[in-house]
Amino acid sequence: MTEAASNISSQAVTATNPEYFRTDFELARTVPHALIQLETISRNFYWSWQPDGVSLFRDLEPDMWDKCEQNPRLLLRKVSGVRLFQRALDKDYVGRVERFAEKLGRYNAEEVSDKKPRIAYFCAEYGVHNSLPNYSGGLGILAGDHLKSASDLGINLTAIGLLYRFGYFRQRISHDGWQQEAYNDIFDSELALTLVKDNGGAPVTISVHIRGREVVAQAWLAEVGRIKLYLLDTNRPENTEVDRLITGHLYGGDTETRIVQEKVLGIGGVRLLRKLGIDPDVYHLNEGHAAFSTLELAREHLQTFADDDFEVAAREVKKKCVFTTHTPVAAGNDMFAPEELIECFSKEFLDSLKLTENEFLTLGRADISDDKAYFGMTPLAIKMCRSSNGVSEKHGEVSRELWLNMFPDLADAGAVPITSVTNGVHPSTWIAPSIQELYQKHFGEGWCEMTRDPSRWADGAFSLLDSDIWQTHQGLKALLIAFIRERTRAKDTGETDTINEHTDTRGLFVPDVLTIGFARRVAAYKRWDLIFSDLPRLLKMVDSHERPVQFIFAGKAHPQDKAAKATLQKLMSINHDSNWQHRAVFIEDYDQEVARYLVQGVDVWMNVPRRPMEASGTSGMKAAMNGVLNFSVLDGWWIEGYNHENGFAIGDVDVEGEAEMDKRDAESLFSTLENEVIPTYYDRGEDGLPADWIARMKNAIATLTPQFSSDRMVNDYLSRIYESEE
Ligand SMILES: *Cc1c(COP(=O)(O)O)cnc(C)c1O
Repeated sequence: MTEAASNISSQAVTATNPEYFRTDFELARTVPHALIQLETISRNFYWSWQPDGVSLFRDLEPDMWDKCEQNPRLLLRKVSGVRLFQRALDKDYVGRVERFAEKLGRYNAEEVSDKKPRIAYFCAEYGVHNSLPNYSGGLGILAGDHLKSASDLGINLTAIGLLYRFGYFRQRISHDGWQQEAYNDIFDSELALTLVKDNGGAPVTISVHIRGREVVAQAWLAEVGRIKLYLLDTNRPENTEVDRLITGHLYGGDTETRIVQEKVLGIGGVRLLRKLGIDPDVYHLNEGHAAFSTLELAREHLQTFADDDFEVAAREVKKKCVFTTHTPVAAGNDMFAPEELIECFSKEFLDSLKLTENEFLTLGRADISDDKAYFGMTPLAIKMCRSSNGVSEKHGEVSRELWLNMFPDLADAGAVPITSVTNGVHPSTWIAPSIQELYQKHFGEGWCEMTRDPSRWADGAFSLLDSDIWQTHQGLKALLIAFIRERTRAKDTGETDTINEHTDTRGLFVPDVLTIGFARRVAAYKRWDLIFSDLPRLLKMVDSHERPVQFIFAGKAHPQDKAAKATLQKLMSINHDSNWQHRAVFIEDYDQEVARYLVQGVDVWMNVPRRPMEASGTSGMKAAMNGVLNFSVLDGWWIEGYNHENGFAIGDVDVEGEAEMDKRDAESLFSTLENEVIPTYYDRGEDGLPADWIARMKNAIATLTPQFSSDRMVNDYLSRIYESEE
């Protein structure tokens, strides 16, 4: 274990004068007694979705808060002593701390531990907050939002994942426009994690047989409101160096690493639940990564019922397991070469399942007659779970077609047993504090609960005052511009300006100009190139004297995806005798914090995936709840959300062939911008307000907030998936 890691659990320091000081064991520093509750608050991510929780830490020392990248544990260690004791004398501040601590106590007080059904939720990544860098993108953010809504709704759910010691990479763009990756050892900073220990104070561990060795994993607890998230970690002294790195990087390793990671998650995860005395009614496998858990459940069954065979065991397992798929293409699903997979599983494990190698491999094959086929985690999950679902209506349909070959008896895809539960996002995580304040003024204290009642919410939202919405939005846009200027200021001088680095940021971006945000992973199907497919036409819009447009880009390319990196480089190299240089920016290192500024502050959120590849998409939902208008290809969630008056649609016809579709969609993208988006935005009344635009903002808030809230999503899972018995 690293020095820093042992720091987290060190308990060596004792208190001095308990009247005024408590030397905090874990922070290893002196915190004034009046502020000691900050320590408790920092240990539960509840603060991160409460504006009064966030502001508590920010106001402690704003510069330091940003330097610590909004990590309250780190802040409490780094904040200056003088500042800390100054704050302790500030009655107003101390009162805020006390009130928030009480609020957290009340929130946590509701007992959920006996409630049925008891859910175990498995996912390979969790994006709870950017201070816990345990996610790469949409899947993780979705899982984080699932936990927050489960907490808010008082659902009895325990979450299982992995703790990646080096997290996901940090992105920098070099002067030649090429993406560079850097990994931080996350134990270098304080995290809101507690090592899980038994009553005797020893770490709770489990082990999984990997590469001929018993690999030991410990567990870290992250508290997400009332939900407990356990993260398995193989960085234990008794493991070999190689095994300690199993939970090293998120999606960073080769396929063998991937298999063993998924063994730790699936098999180790079930074993951890047992160690903790948790016996769930339902196991929710969020994406195929955790599908090995079904094998462990079968093994458990056969241990108790020694006379049963695998088929009987599988039937029992199936009663308890449900699966969500997130990928609309076969190649996007985890697939392993048979030899490689067999290498990673011991003969004893297969024996304990009463399976031959071939029977085992067949479990992961869509087409069971093909004995060369790779082992897929999605076929395994579909076979071993009583319910499977996609993440939007369209994605459900696409998944039924994709996996029709698993059901040779079925005549058509419509009969394939895959349903859908459309994704959602967590309102108070993604709605800007000032918009929340506006909602609170308009709907009252319970505005957030009201989003669960679509017709009441809509009635209220349509009567929001135009000027209130517009002014609040303009405030957020000004904040975004300040953020952009700060983030793109050149770190060293002497280089020519690029869109990610400016030597002089003062002229960068103007509040009155229509601002379009485009931020997402740089994956081929997201079609970053579409907007550059006609550069002169793009620059004409940017350069327009009366009705200009500004663009903000952000997003990471997968470290091994050279084509995606080349796309980014192309974007960085657009260098023109035009306004492009100060009306377009690229923000490095897209994460939740950057996402928040963007989805809250731009006017338009653009999305141009190649249909039907966007299983759902969630960033547009975040934007909509802030009154930002979606301008998107009709795919994933937007097919369900778009009603002609709450945003803009790109391309509506399905045409044959990728090239033809790209061409048509590019044309639709440009003409919709020129003929609809831009004129609507700049069409101002006598009061200076764009009435039609604001009507659309209100419509978006009214119709999309309840429909795409993760509260609605989790309630759907509860009533349609968790509680239903087939
Ligand atoms: C919301 C979010 C995503 C997912 O957005 P998509 O629209 O599904 O691409 C990815 N990364 C971050 C940081 C996010 O906040």
